Amino acid sequence: MTEKKEAGKRAKWSKFCPKCGKQTDEFFDSMCKDCFKQGITLLVPESRSLELSVSVCPHCGGFFKGKEQTSIKPAVETAVRKAIWKKYGAETPVEIAELSVELAENKRSAHVSIAVKAEISGVEIKETGEFTAALRREICERCSRIAGGYYAAIVQIRAEVRIPTDEELAVAENIAHAPLGESDFVSKERMLKEGLDIYVSSAEYGRMISRAVVKELGGNFSESKKLYGRKDGRDIYRVTFLVRLPGLKQGAVVKIGNKKISVEKVIEGEGIEGVDMNTGESVFVSKKEMMKAKKI
Ligand SMILES: [Zn+2]
Ligand SMILES: [Zn+2]
Repeated sequence: MTEKKEAGKRAKWSKFCPKCGKQTDEFFDSMCKDCFKQGITLLVPESRSLELSVSVCPHCGGFFKGKEQTSIKPAVETAVRKAIWKKYGAETPVEIAELSVELAENKRSAHVSIAVKAEISGVEIKETGEFTAALRREICERCSRIAGGYYAAIVQIRAEVRIPTDEELAVAENIAHAPLGESDFVSKERMLKEGLDIYVSSAEYGRMISRAVVKELGGNFSESKKLYGRKDGRDIYRVTFLVRLPGLKQGAVVKIGNKKISVEKVIEGEGIEGVDMNTGESVFVSKKEMMKAKKI
């Protein structure tokens, strides 16, 4: 078929758009292209709202889809795509050309401005829009666990036949509070005569802290678990990590009460022989007595 013939045929069989009356051969949904385009709204019209099904935690400001942490932009993109697919079919090619999302100060909604392209019945449609997306405010699992004092493991910082120094405890605390996985947290700390107990969100996290403390300060750690209860048919354990920092060596100086003692000899399982630094007297300090000793 030649161009000429085709043109002649067209003229003969020309049709008119029933909506605007324009003469055309190309019909989309029984209308001319322009009328077809006019009938399409990609973005939600009057209501100017979008079903995001995203919640925001008023405590930490994190966005969540169910329990999973998410970010707001991909959530908006998905919601817009889904809204378009719902109207025009899931095979519709949709492209988000521009997107900016601004969270309202009260965190109850987000202002969205968007440019979107889609191809419907072979016609490319471009649209820009602005709307407000409502957000659910919901305290996330992590924040509610923190608030509820939840813990799954305890890291006990102790030292071999002495009490840990303030510096050592500070190192352990810094390790425990360093930002790690999103679900890791310290729920409480208890200072005891013999050291420090750090209550943490999971056994894995407790193990990580213990390992890091030993790497930094020496010594070793052991773990033991105790059945705590059952949840969804599974046994729930709480794990205790006992970190033992290294004991004293010859030449170390300890403080017991207001006495300063320099360590001369460590007698395994019994105590130490030392010198009272104020009086110059030789002294023996029993293992039990040594538990009040602070290394200085
Ligand atoms: Zn028309
Ligand atoms: Zn939170």
